[in-house]
Amino acid sequence: MYERDPELRRAAIRLHGTRCLACGFDFEEAYGERGRGYIEVHHLKPVSALGGPAAVDPRADLTVLCANCHRMVHRRRDRVLGLEELREIVRAARGVKSERKGETGGDATTRNPAAGA
Ligand SMILES: [Zn+2]
Ligand SMILES: [Zn+2]
Repeated sequence: MYERDPELRRAAIRLHGTRCLACGFDFEEAYGERGRGYIEVHHLKPVSALGGPAAVDPRADLTVLCANCHRMVHRRRDRVLGLEELREIVRAARGVKSERKGETGGDATTRNPAAGA
């Protein structure tokens, strides 16, 4: 509900980039100029539980998802998925078995700030 808060959105993109953290989708790769900088910001913890938008920590509480993944996370209102759960679902559906070197959840994206910074 606060997912369109422009400041939180900017902060989330600055920290997490514009590549979907669940499936790796990049709007610019898919849509070129038109998709550049586009990504949807998802709240891992409901703003209401945090006590309002001012209490949101963009690094811990927000993530970035492509439109498809974002829909899937929210598809069941009574059962919103966590990021890891969604990643597992994507992996399972793709039939990918961690074939990348030392994979521990980092989804190939070198831009994942959790890995460094
Ligand atoms: Zn995605
Ligand atoms: Zn969301």
